[in-house]
Amino acid sequence: MVKRKRLDKKKRSTVRERDWEQRHETSFTHDLARHRRAMVKLPEHSLYHETPPESVVPNATVVSHTRKWAFVLLDQPFSTEDGLEDTLLCLIDERLDRQDASLLAPGDRVLVEIAPDGNGVVRGIGERHTALVRHAGVHGQLNRQIIAANVEMLVIVAAATHPPFCPGLIDRFLIVAQLGGVTPMLCVNKMDLVDAEPAEVAHYRELGLTICNTSCKIGEGINHLRDVLHGKTSVFAGHSGVGKSSLLNCLDPELRALTREVSEATRRGRHATTASKLYQLAGAIRVIDTPGIRTLGLWDVSPETLAFYFPEMVERGAVCKFRNCTHIHEPGCGVRAAVDAGDIAWARYDSYKRIRAALESQSDSQTTGKH
Ligand code: GDP
Ligand code: ZN
Repeated sequence: MVKRKRLDKKKRSTVRERDWEQRHETSFTHDLARHRRAMVKLPEHSLYHETPPESVVPNATVVSHTRKWAFVLLDQPFSTEDGLEDTLLCLIDERLDRQDASLLAPGDRVLVEIAPDGNGVVRGIGERHTALVRHAGVHGQLNRQIIAANVEMLVIVAAATHPPFCPGLIDRFLIVAQLGGVTPMLCVNKMDLVDAEPAEVAHYRELGLTICNTSCKIGEGINHLRDVLHGKTSVFAGHSGVGKSSLLNCLDPELRALTREVSEATRRGRHATTASKLYQLAGAIRVIDTPGIRTLGLWDVSPETLAFYFPEMVERGAVCKFRNCTHIHEPGCGVRAAVDAGDIAWARYDSYKRIRAALESQSDSQTTGKH
C-alpha cells in the first residue's frame, strides 16, 4: 500500500478547465478541490481495489478525456451538496489502461461507479459500435486515434454558396463515414442565398443520401434536420464558415454545451488533451464536436480499393476489361464509359481521380518511410 501511494503521487495529474459554461463557473472551485481530494483518497477506497466488474452495463457517456481522467455525462443525475449533477470528472481505473491513446474517445459508453464520498471512477468500457478514426504521425510512427465513438450520423455540412459548394470534400467525408460504420447525410445550408440547390446535390440524392436543405437565416429545413437527428448522436463536419455552429443554435437556441478541457502533463512534458464538446440538444439530439474531424484522413483506403467506396462505380467497374483497372487510363473501362454516357456524375469521377492521386502519393511516401 505504501508503495502504491508513492507511485500515485508521482503520477499526479493536473486538471485544468476552460470554456466552462456559466452555470458551472461557481461550482468549479469546489469541483477541483473535490478532485484533488480524490487523487489522494481514491487509492484508499475499497472500490478502487476491487477488480473492475466483468460485465459492463454502461451508465455514462464520455465527453472528453485524458489517459487518467474522463469527463462524463451520466444517464441519471445524482445528488450532491449543490443539487442534482449529471456531469462528473472521473478517474479512469488504471487496470483499464491499454497504454493506448484510444482507450476512450468522446461518445464512448462507460460504467461509472460513484463512491459514497461522491468521487467517480470509470470502471468499465462498453462495446464501441462505430468509430471515426484519425491517423496521425507521432514520433515517426503512424498512430490511430479514435476521435469519436458510437456516432450514428455524420452530418456533412456544405454551404450552397459562401464558401462555394464543394463536392470534393463531401466525397471524402462519405468515405470517412463508410470506414467508421457511420451513416452519412448531407446538409446544404445557406439556401437563402441561392435560387435553387447546387446542381451536384442531385447526384447525392441519386446515391440514396438523406439530404436536408437548410437556411439558418430564414429557418428553412431546420425541422426536417431535427427530425432526422432525433434520438441520435451525430458529428457535424464541413469547411469552416458553412454554418455548423449556426445550425446547432437553430436546432436548439438554448444549446447546452458540455465541455471541459481535461489536460494532463505527460511524462515528456507535453500536454495531451481532447478539446471535444458534447452538445445536448432539445429533442433527444446529441452532437459531438471534436476538432479532430477537420483532419480526418483516408489512411485505411488503398488506391486499389478506393473505387469500392464509390457505390455507383462498383457495378460499372465489374465490366472493365482489366480486372485491376484503375478507371483512369485503361481501354475498355466500364467506369469511364459510364462517365461519358452521363450515368456517373463527372464531379464524382473527378473526386475519385483526385483522391486516388492523393492516396498514391501518400502510399509512395509511406514506402519510402516518410510521412
Ligand atoms: P461554422 O464555421 O461552420 O461553424 O460556421 P458559422 O455557424 O460560424 O457560420 C459562418 C457564417 O455564416 C456566419 O456569419 C453565419 O451568420 C453565416 N450563416 C450561417 N448559416 C447561414 C445561412 O443559412 N444563411 C446565411 N445567409 N448565412 C449563414
Ligand atoms: Zn475501369
